[in-house]
Amino acid sequence: MAFTIIFKYYSEQPVYPFKNQMIYCSNCGTRVIEKVPAGDNRQRYVCDACETIHYQNPKIVAGCVPVWENRLLLCRRAIEPRYGLWTLPAGFMENGESTEQAAARETQEEAGAVVKDMALYGVFSIPQINQVYMMFRAQLAAEDYHAGAESLDVRLFHEHEIPWDELAFPVVKLTLERYYNDIKNSHFPVHVEDIFRHPARK
Ligand SMILES: [Zn+2]
Repeated sequence: MAFTIIFKYYSEQPVYPFKNQMIYCSNCGTRVIEKVPAGDNRQRYVCDACETIHYQNPKIVAGCVPVWENRLLLCRRAIEPRYGLWTLPAGFMENGESTEQAAARETQEEAGAVVKDMALYGVFSIPQINQVYMMFRAQLAAEDYHAGAESLDVRLFHEHEIPWDELAFPVVKLTLERYYNDIKNSHFPVHVEDIFRHPARK
């Protein structure tokens, strides 16, 4: 059983290479080379034809912990990866928006829900996949939500109903664990943590 889980982990990882392969320059179409640019200290994709250095940096994923009274909203994913598993509404930021706007937009798109009273709650770095999650606590503006195109289902859960064994990502589990622990103390500090996935750990 444990072996199955480990194998599954490995089989999913190649979707997220440490570096996104680039063959041709996105600026001029010439084949790029890998080298350390002058004054730099690591390998980059560089186009010698138009002298563009193609830097690759982590992406920010913004999301919400949407709450209605004492229930918490989760979405059941209608897309890969982790089809059918439960997640907090979250997604990649778009250019031109703030982290808060991105989190609210993702909640609208995935859960058909409008949020208010947003407060930064978690900054979670996941170095292996070059992502930083910025999670906001938020109140639903109304008990009004529906599954968006990327969700099979959207539901409000009491704590004892949370599908802990069917959560889509480690960052979702971590966020919910912190949240329910903080509820006990009625104190919600901003959590800044790193998530290191390892094959030997679930
Ligand atoms: Zn070029």
